[in-house]
Amino acid sequence: MTTIDKIETVIVDVPTIRGHVLSMATMKTQSAVLVRVRFSDGSEGIGEGTTIGGLSYCPESPESIQSVIDTYIAPALIGSDGDSVNGAIHLMDKLVQGNRIAKAAVEIALWDGLGKRLNVPVSQLFGGAVHSRLPVAWTLASGNSETDITEAQQVIESKRHNIFKLKIGKRPVREDVAHVAKIKQALGDAASIRVDVNQAWSLAEARWGLKGLQEVGCELVEQPVPARYRGAMAELTSGYEIAVMADETLNGPEDALAVAAGKSADVFAVKVAQSGGLRRASEVIAIGQAAGLGLYAGTMLETGLGTAAALQLFSTVEKLDWGTELFGPLLLNDEILSDSLRYRDFCVEIPSGPGIGVALDQDKVDFYRRGGKKSLKAVSMK
Ligand SMILES: [Mg+2]
Repeated sequence: MTTIDKIETVIVDVPTIRGHVLSMATMKTQSAVLVRVRFSDGSEGIGEGTTIGGLSYCPESPESIQSVIDTYIAPALIGSDGDSVNGAIHLMDKLVQGNRIAKAAVEIALWDGLGKRLNVPVSQLFGGAVHSRLPVAWTLASGNSETDITEAQQVIESKRHNIFKLKIGKRPVREDVAHVAKIKQALGDAASIRVDVNQAWSLAEARWGLKGLQEVGCELVEQPVPARYRGAMAELTSGYEIAVMADETLNGPEDALAVAAGKSADVFAVKVAQSGGLRRASEVIAIGQAAGLGLYAGTMLETGLGTAAALQLFSTVEKLDWGTELFGPLLLNDEILSDSLRYRDFCVEIPSGPGIGVALDQDKVDFYRRGGKKSLKAVSMK
């Protein structure tokens, strides 16, 4: 039996290419918890657990993710069967309530290790890929309409993205709608425009917001009201033509079932980290499919590592009606993988190697490691 010998964690703090302005925080750095699992046969697996804006997005922070893994998950898993990812999921669920991102980080490393030992991509462990590439949206979140328009025109020109998600909710509703209108008008039919409010509106604000947004040609609104207001989400879903997407309210399959049963969304933003791992995310996907909802592959702005893991799963999903936003590595000012994920022709390519299909650049990990000595002599900034 191949056992789990060691689980190591490190937090890396990587600067973003620009301030990423969200309704609840402005990100200038992304902090990712990287996990390395060492197995008894000498093989290894890598995983990532990342959240958005420190502790402003959800109840887990980079520090809590690392602490939960080091203090509770690692000691419980050491010595157990490395090939039984389901066994590890069961044990983690038994010993640790919540903390889905921490569990996801470890689970990804276990899938990666298993895939590498079997010499197959993780997608094959989920039944096999049906896509070799997936469309990928870009988020416009500079906080300034003109800057966003220039940024959008550049990435359309370079055929990197033509689907844009605008982060709104920080300013008054009327100003946000005017901001969206300005961008839609400038880009016209060359782009699909969606918005993410990150829970910032009350139901009354959301009614005005959705009415205004659909009038200016915006196609989808993500989590307009707080996650716990599922009744309000249901009212907005049935009250307007614009598609309503659930994000922060979707923390695993139980939430997915409640949202589907309550008709509280048209679309699921499925996030691996928020779901609690690849297995739980696949269950969220199944519930969305069974309910006839639209699907979208969401991101926690992971580095290339977590993004590659998500790509392995989403490559197995036949119909992703709203595409993906798996652009995390493009928001970072530097690459921590030895080979970058490939973005071209408005798509991201699914890595094809064994496991999740990517490897870390250890020098970069050492350079960005929190508390570590920044010693790398020549860090190439992209
Ligand atoms: Mg969101």
